[in-house]
Amino acid sequence: MKELQYLNKYFIKYKYRFLLGIIITIAAQIFKLYVPKFFGDSLRAIENSGITKETAYKILVDNFLLTVAAALIGGFLTFLMRQTLIVMSRHIEFDLKNEIYNHYQILTQNFYKQNRTGDLMSRISEDVSKVRMYVGPSVMYSINTLIVFVVVIIQMALISPKLTFFSLLPLPLLSYGVFKISSQIHIKSGIFQQNLSTLSSFTQEIFSGIRVIKAYAIEGKKQDEFYNLTQESNEKAMSLAKTNALFGPLMILLIGLSNLVVIYVGGTMYINGSIPDIGVIAQFILYINMLTWPVASLGWVSSLVQEAEASQKRINEFLKVEPEIQNTVTTHTDIKGKIEFKNVSFTYDDTNITALKHINFELTPGETLAILGKTGSGKSTILNLISRMYDTTEGTVFIDNTPVKEINLNDLRNNIGVVPQDAFLFSDSIKNNIKFGKEDATDEEVIDAAKKAVVHENIEAFSKKYDTVLGERGITLSGGQKQRVSIARALIKNAPVLLLDDCLSAVDTETEEAILNTLTDFTKGKTTVIVSHRISSIKNANKIIILDEGKIIQQGTHNQLLATDGYYKDLYLKQLAEKEIV
Ligand code: ADP
Ligand code: MG
Repeated sequence: MKELQYLNKYFIKYKYRFLLGIIITIAAQIFKLYVPKFFGDSLRAIENSGITKETAYKILVDNFLLTVAAALIGGFLTFLMRQTLIVMSRHIEFDLKNEIYNHYQILTQNFYKQNRTGDLMSRISEDVSKVRMYVGPSVMYSINTLIVFVVVIIQMALISPKLTFFSLLPLPLLSYGVFKISSQIHIKSGIFQQNLSTLSSFTQEIFSGIRVIKAYAIEGKKQDEFYNLTQESNEKAMSLAKTNALFGPLMILLIGLSNLVVIYVGGTMYINGSIPDIGVIAQFILYINMLTWPVASLGWVSSLVQEAEASQKRINEFLKVEPEIQNTVTTHTDIKGKIEFKNVSFTYDDTNITALKHINFELTPGETLAILGKTGSGKSTILNLISRMYDTTEGTVFIDNTPVKEINLNDLRNNIGVVPQDAFLFSDSIKNNIKFGKEDATDEEVIDAAKKAVVHENIEAFSKKYDTVLGERGITLSGGQKQRVSIARALIKNAPVLLLDDCLSAVDTETEEAILNTLTDFTKGKTTVIVSHRISSIKNANKIIILDEGKIIQQGTHNQLLATDGYYKDLYLKQLAEKEIV
């Protein structure tokens, strides 16, 4: 129960609803209690020879009506009980999902590298559902059982303590049996679920890789694999069904047993004269039947609670993770765009790769810095540190002479337009993908940004133009088109700092030239850091640094670098020979 204590704050949040639920449950049980009583009274009236036929008949009719009324009211209150308590659990489920989601969002990239997406998803969906079974049904049935018990057993004991004792004897057996079977059901359904998720990951991968599968003509092989998986899943389902099938008969058996005990013991007592009439026996049979479901639910509930405990433990594990990048600064700052690296080194925790070693450079607002170097030399890492995706291991990154750690994280990121190396677009319309950079952008602004990124004409060529949906449910853009939409998304933000990570690699040289032309205008007054492999895109930068294995090996302007032998000059000559320089 330790893990589940985490949820107490939600019970406190919904305390009135919770309290109301309890009160309604008590009321419902009290009304239901009248049914057996009227039933017993009716039998008593039939049996009793001391009253006239007319009186007996009147009692029968009255009791008939009273029973219907009590059952209706009891039933309606039960409905209200579910309405309050189950609805409360839905509210808690909603809150918990949002809490987990918000927490996921502030966690850093390291967290996402260490945990599989499927795991993140299952904790926010399946685990939360299991926890809801605790805050909803489990709590409701526990309260219900407790109240039924107290109310019914007091009533029974008042009539005959001895008969009460004997008729309750089989109930613990029932509860234990149900507990055992539901534990089995939960274990088996867990295995079945696991199997299902393997099956669905398998099919998902097949569908997304269908082109490769067809191209290599391995449909037959995949079909066999699928057959084996479904076969396995079938066996698991059968085993689950068998256990499930035991549940009903077991309950009926044990209820029957209780009824037999009441009839036997009650009958003997009636013959001995220790109970006054047969009505008592009938009344007890009904009481026992009122008790069986709550007792059975006790077993069911305890296995639900066990499951919820395990799920909440998994949820708590993630909620406990502290984001490595903390947004502690609450004051707001305007960012002008001065960027300075002072002796910055950075090591990736998980791989222990030191991606940057003692990097120093300074950019005044409005300047352009170009970063060049082989893959893996640390270019993207520099950009990651500017937008504070990671904190430096050594040294400090300054923006406007303030260490980035002392700038409000939202301000920092709102003032940086980023085009990442892998242009990720959402499965949404092109327009919305671009508007991602500025939520309240008008259509004109979207078109303007697309024109600057030289992708407007491509978009216009689609039949639905800017409303064309991308990704899973829509069309696939070419690599170069993706990059340009991604650039448009960064441009529309119109931030004072622009980070372009190798974002023209899939664009042909002419388009590149066109984009660079519009960019020169656009980036006037904005600090720009551009990573590229092509001399043509960086030759006009105010500063160029060449990285190798995390160190700056050369720096200067285009002309300065050309004047010295080295990586830059070699690359220039090579690209000139291949006519890549425009
Ligand atoms: P570039 O952008 O110049 O290709 P990166 O900055 O992406 O280089 O990478 C620099 C080094 O850091 C590489 O050796 C790379 O393997 C490593 N690296 C990059 N990103 C990560 C990461 N998220 N986790 C661990 N190591 C990384
Ligand atoms: Mg990179």
